[in-house]
Amino acid sequence: MKKIAILGSTGSIGTQTLDIVRANGDIRVEAIAARANIDLLEKQIREFSPKIAGVWDEKKAAELKLRVADTATKVVAGKEGILEVSTAPKAEILVTGIVGMIGIEPTIAAIRAGKDIALANKETLVCAGHIIMPLAEDRGIRILPVDSEHSAIFQSLRGNKKNRIAKILLTASGGPFRKYSAKKLKTVTLEDALKHPNWSMGPKVTIDSSTMVNKGLEVIEAHWLFNVPSDRIQVVVQPKSIIHSMVEFEDGAVMAQLGVPDMKLPIQYALYYPKRRFLAGDRLDFWTMNEIELVKPDLKKFPGLGLAYHACEKGGSLPTVLNSANEIAVSAFLKKKIAWGGISKMIAEAMEQHENYGILKEPTVEEIFEIRNSTEAWMKEKYHL
Ligand code: MG
Repeated sequence: MKKIAILGSTGSIGTQTLDIVRANGDIRVEAIAARANIDLLEKQIREFSPKIAGVWDEKKAAELKLRVADTATKVVAGKEGILEVSTAPKAEILVTGIVGMIGIEPTIAAIRAGKDIALANKETLVCAGHIIMPLAEDRGIRILPVDSEHSAIFQSLRGNKKNRIAKILLTASGGPFRKYSAKKLKTVTLEDALKHPNWSMGPKVTIDSSTMVNKGLEVIEAHWLFNVPSDRIQVVVQPKSIIHSMVEFEDGAVMAQLGVPDMKLPIQYALYYPKRRFLAGDRLDFWTMNEIELVKPDLKKFPGLGLAYHACEKGGSLPTVLNSANEIAVSAFLKKKIAWGGISKMIAEAMEQHENYGILKEPTVEEIFEIRNSTEAWMKEKYHL
């Protein structure tokens, strides 16, 4: 029996992780946590009988505690509760299926407690890669990527530990606005941005995908996971999401992982690594697949991607500003307070302001959160959010 804990068990990654648990029957769910969806948490508690269930929202936690009083599951609340779930005694792997910088501290706590990480929280590496990667190495912890692109790179690197990576080719769908003109991009709505052509994901990642900031965060994530500088990470737009990413070696050989777009594959691969298991679902049909279109990303229409490259190159606290400004701007866009184009504009201005002020070289976790708060305060005042 493999034992796991899941952060974000009610979200897109969390529910698909539980589908895999259900389909395989040899994984035991020790602990789960979610932000506030206690209706689904209650169902999950009754189905999987975890020892611990955490709820970020303290009021909802109190309500859930009453609802599941007849079970053996211990309900915990708030940040402390989430940390308790991350370090659940018997769990061997923590699946970090939550969105945002909130994932940083639980991931560090889990590594310290000796858990491998099935990493689905980009922000952890974007903001704190310089803390997480050396810590994991020091403790002999595996960081198993769950992001489909990074899983593809990870799979393409199998058996190539000693070979030098010449280039990472990070594929991107290009999002729903790939073919839009600059003029049409000015009038896109929230509803338009929430429609992703290939992947079914949560709202934050879907919006990030429409601006290509998601790909930018993935460039920084790849930089940390595979120890490759950003100038050797090339984004390739491949609209149908068949090639999930590629690695070019120094002899020119390119290794890729292909498949139908289904997040269950990278999740299952991380959970059973290094073994592959049967996974139900569609298979690629090369007879009906007439072409794989590959195009260059348009940095003029999607400036967020270029900003992420810049943040990755400068490093230090700048990626935290990029990510914080994006979180704040996307949240304002989701509330229809700002236009779609405002997201990348705000990120650019927040980054410029921070660079003028001075980049912090190796920020501590505490400093990372201070920078997030000061970025938020600066944006609230400047844009009246
Ligand atoms: Mg991805």
